[in-house]
Amino acid sequence: MSGVPLRDVLVLGGGPAALCIASALAGEGLSVALLAPHDLRAPWPNTYGIWGEEVDALGLAHLLEHRWSHTVSYFGAGSSDPADPANRPTPHRRDYGLFDRGALQQHWLDACERGGVELLAGKAERFRLDAEGRWSVLATADGARHQARLVVDATGHEPVLVRRPDLGPVAGQAAYGIVGRFSAPPVEAGQFVLMDYRADHLSTEERRQPPTFLYAMDLGEGRFFVEETSLALAPPVPYDTLRRRLLRRLAHRGVRVEQVEHEEFCLFPMNLPLPDLRQPVLGFGGAASMVHPASGYMVGSLLRRAPAVAEAVAGLVRAEPQAGSAQLAQAGWDALWPLDLRRKHALYQFGLEKLMRFSEVQLRAHFATFFSLPDAQWYGFLANTATVPELLTAMLRLFGQAPWSVRLGLMGLQGREPALLARLIRPS
Ligand SMILES: Cc1cc2nc3c(=O)[nH]c(=O)nc-3n(C[C@H](O)[C@H](O)[C@H](O)COP(=O)(O)OP(=O)(O)OC[C@H]3O[C@@H](n4cnc5c(N)ncnc54)[C@H](O)[C@@H]3O)c2cc1C
Repeated sequence: MSGVPLRDVLVLGGGPAALCIASALAGEGLSVALLAPHDLRAPWPNTYGIWGEEVDALGLAHLLEHRWSHTVSYFGAGSSDPADPANRPTPHRRDYGLFDRGALQQHWLDACERGGVELLAGKAERFRLDAEGRWSVLATADGARHQARLVVDATGHEPVLVRRPDLGPVAGQAAYGIVGRFSAPPVEAGQFVLMDYRADHLSTEERRQPPTFLYAMDLGEGRFFVEETSLALAPPVPYDTLRRRLLRRLAHRGVRVEQVEHEEFCLFPMNLPLPDLRQPVLGFGGAASMVHPASGYMVGSLLRRAPAVAEAVAGLVRAEPQAGSAQLAQAGWDALWPLDLRRKHALYQFGLEKLMRFSEVQLRAHFATFFSLPDAQWYGFLANTATVPELLTAMLRLFGQAPWSVRLGLMGLQGREPALLARLIRPS
């Protein structure tokens, strides 16, 4: 392929994962190009939240647009009397933040520029290895060809190249949200609500249907973000249902929407299987199933895991100039999904399977118990910073402290739960 520029790595995609891994690889001194079908500086549509401690540990607190210390959830049944214990909040005693998405994107774009990352326009379509397996050859929809020692697919949850096994229906986290102004504050001043599971605004029949919760925050200056969310379900809860429930919830508390600044329609997969870790294309982000199966968060994980992946790939490029694409991809996959993270992935998915079967009453009791665990345990679970033994300890403690309704739901194995437990012992 004469005339085609040769690079160490070609990264596909223009979302958080692509920018994060491209900047990390370039920071290791590799020659990197980024390929996306849109302007890589175009604003991202999604909002990204993160725990304060996570962003502090990464040294990126300056990239937050909002930060709350008054963080709570509601796991009581709710009632029309505000003084009723059923309305009592559970304090989280931890900061939560919302990224300034423009600043986060610029942070990575600046790092890409410093590392000399080339920005290319095009839609990746086909991939092959050259005859010796040394080079990856990528064709775009408009017929252009690119050649690199390694291709990294960061094209999101439905990746263009990365393959993963089909293990049945995939559960989606669905949410409908409004950024706007309201006739009365939907949450307290300065408050961030992670989960409000109160359901006294729903009929008995509705309370038998899959539970949803409110995720909400005070954005300041009279603006609020309120979002009705379904943790995970296959097929996902429809937006219509979420919107109806959100408006009912607000009306029940005497709150009307007065001005809609932005509507958010959120849907992403929560329990994607791990990709095939032997394929000659490396994945990153949604493409590599990096969404936390218990919380839906990913940005913290991108930032924490990119350096090890970039170091592993760059180390091999330098140590073995003849290494082919499959070898480089393998080094990347091994760094991205080491044994302990694969075990944790199985454990989280096992937990999510259980939660998806829980009734509203069981879910409320489960989360009330979960957030009564020592702070370090629930935080380590949610931020994916705990070790496998620490996670198992937290889960056993939860079982011991939970009411019988939850314990019964946790006992017995149904559906894909036995397979997930087997993967905990022997990860794929
Ligand atoms: C509304 C909403 C809110 C969310 N909130 C959070 C949150 O608070 N915290 C969190 O951690 N996660 C959150 N998520 C999940 C998170 O958005 C996604 O997991 C994340 O955007 C995935 O990042 P990604 O870079 O892997 O993929 P994406 O952001 O989906 O980016 C994929 C990129 O690949 C490009 N692409 C697609 N096809 C091709 C192709 N053929 N060739 C080249 N490029 C291609 C696309 O144009 C795009 O630029 C949210 C998701 C939604 C929808």
